[in-house]
Amino acid sequence: MKIGRNEKCWCGSKKKFKYCHYGREKEQPLSKGEAIGESKKIGSRKCCYVPDELKGECDKKIINAHTISKSGSLKEIADSTNHVLGLKIDLANFFKHEGRLIPERIGINQASTFSGFCAKHDKELFSCIEDQEFCGSERQLHALMYRSVAKELYAKEGSFLTSQLLKGGDKGRHPIDQLFIQNFAASNQSGVEAAQKELSELKRKLDEQFLGKTRSNFSHLIVRAKSPVPVAVSSIVSPVSDFEGNLIQDLGDLSVPAESLVFNSFSSDGKGYVVFSWLKESSKVLGFINTFLAIDSDGLFSALIRFFFGVSENTFISPVWWDSLEASQKCKIQELIMAGVNPFEFEPKKLLVDDGVVFTGLEVGDITKVNF
Ligand SMILES: [Zn+2]
Ligand SMILES: [Zn+2]
Repeated sequence: MKIGRNEKCWCGSKKKFKYCHYGREKEQPLSKGEAIGESKKIGSRKCCYVPDELKGECDKKIINAHTISKSGSLKEIADSTNHVLGLKIDLANFFKHEGRLIPERIGINQASTFSGFCAKHDKELFSCIEDQEFCGSERQLHALMYRSVAKELYAKEGSFLTSQLLKGGDKGRHPIDQLFIQNFAASNQSGVEAAQKELSELKRKLDEQFLGKTRSNFSHLIVRAKSPVPVAVSSIVSPVSDFEGNLIQDLGDLSVPAESLVFNSFSSDGKGYVVFSWLKESSKVLGFINTFLAIDSDGLFSALIRFFFGVSENTFISPVWWDSLEASQKCKIQELIMAGVNPFEFEPKKLLVDDGVVFTGLEVGDITKVNF
């Protein structure tokens, strides 16, 4: 590879070669400690995801916003010491468990938080779900979606910064390794950028609804239960396959916008809820939801468990429920968690299909369709 010192660098940074990769193999490599420190910084950055029009009114204080209601959901499923089980996802933990994700005890004050809203806007946007009993009002359904989408945007911006970090991780490495690292980071970034674009578009629609410019153009499915759901979750996914094992969209093709599904599992006033929300025009997601609705009522909870752990990392487990599981059930959950991390772990088509492992712990009651 011959390249002039004043030519653009091969890595795509748009910088001149002499200011970028020239002599990088002789630079001081990034240490594990530095990488962990940088990744911690990325995970704790602060901002407010309120609509742009309202940013001028932001409170100075950015708080640790809970993506899952602490007072309702997490307290309902916590053990006597106010702990739940969840996944700690950061580089330090990744090294500790050699890449495996294992549910660990987390205090409910720390669980599911992100610093993505100022104190004032957190209250304005979410007090309807934090301080009021869930009734499925348009305002509450909007708030649930808003928080999930903001959290995901925050996470995606974090992944983008992490791949920037990765790009600097080729210092002191052989040019072949540099090439490999830069290619890996670049393809990761283009995927992240596509996801950011889709999420921003979804958030723009939610912003408009919040500002009263449009009515809701979202559909929802509300699943109700008489008792708290032992697994609390708040997430957004572009489903690849449905509950019958049909492939519904190919996320590898970045030229076709992916259709997304927001979902929340939580408790309010001692009762359990699972809410699915999506853009009304997303016909592939509607097809996905229909395969969920086609499941027998006694199979619904097991299907939810496969879905929650198979596609989301933002899951929180009741320690009492976890302790009641048999080894085969725990093993299945581990498998599902790793499928979310490593796309090669499972054939994606089979991820949500019933494989005979049954979970109990929730009796699903009414299911309501909103704006179908
Ligand atoms: Zn370069
Ligand atoms: Zn704010």
